Amino acid sequence: EKSRLGRLRSLPAETTDGERVELQANLEIPAELPLIHQAGAEGIGLLRTEFLFMNREDLPDEDAQVAAYRSVVEAMAGHCVTIRVLDWGGEKDMEALAQGVPVSTGTNPALGLRGIRLLLKRPELLEEQFAAILRVSAMGKVRILLPMVTVPSEVAAARDIYERVAKRLRRRGEALPEKLPPLGAMIETPGAALAADAIALEADFFAIGTNDLAMYTLAVDRAEADVAHLYDPLHPAVLRLVQFATEAALRLRMPCSVCGEMAGNPSLVPLLLGLGIRALSMNASAIPRVKQAVRGLDIDDCARFARRVMEQSDPARIAELVGGFGRD
Ligand code: PEP
Ligand code: MG
Repeated sequence: EKSRLGRLRSLPAETTDGERVELQANLEIPAELPLIHQAGAEGIGLLRTEFLFMNREDLPDEDAQVAAYRSVVEAMAGHCVTIRVLDWGGEKDMEALAQGVPVSTGTNPALGLRGIRLLLKRPELLEEQFAAILRVSAMGKVRILLPMVTVPSEVAAARDIYERVAKRLRRRGEALPEKLPPLGAMIETPGAALAADAIALEADFFAIGTNDLAMYTLAVDRAEADVAHLYDPLHPAVLRLVQFATEAALRLRMPCSVCGEMAGNPSLVPLLLGLGIRALSMNASAIPRVKQAVRGLDIDDCARFARRVMEQSDPARIAELVGGFGRD
């Protein structure tokens, strides 16, 4: 079985009717790079940059960030690397963040100063990270992703800073690509999903983060054992939000990927393709099996299947349908 999955590496992620699906990797620590290469990822759909800020007393400076991003961009040899700016706060380990950076430690950190909210409160963090990413953008294909967006104005505010930083770097003589790397928004809160049409006007692409989307939609903290059984990305509320955001992107022909855990589950591929998703970013180890699933599917079947699933309102029935795909 292993060698069969290995042979898949050189085959395209293409449905039986010839529709291409982009299979990318999520990267949390650079040590995963060899695995990503081995799995045949067509780029990095989500580079979580939190690792750079962990387990240290001070903040990583611009040059340290450049070195880290450069090693990933070079290793990906021409494939696109989607770098997400710091998603700190919420359930992410705040203890480790360098002192002096305000994060919500109150009663409800998940609803507080997290992701883009923190970065806009401390714009010098965002400026430095943008500068570092821009400096490597001449070395390969790069995109920038904003975490925890809930309103369009956050994307607009980040873009103002982004363009200001680019201007400053150019004045300094840095070689930046003529067209700046795309600036995208994570769709990972119900608010962002339901306002996806408005956010799409400010963002260059979407990455749907189903981990947080499910958590915030269902009001379930996965780390909370007593309610973990309620955590269900197949809950119709979550699926409807994914559908709404995807359709907003499709209308504008804007790239839209799914990068939460859902994306790495082969049994959910028919549904996601049927909803119109054509890019999935996942743990590298999941890529061969997801590719295998893609290669066995027909897009029209997927679309029909998704319509059937989206008519359902009972999570148990949806789980049953998804589990039984292709069996009837
Ligand atoms: C998500 O929320 O689905 C996501 C991909 O981001 P993270 O898991 O890093 O919060
Ligand atoms: Mg998230």
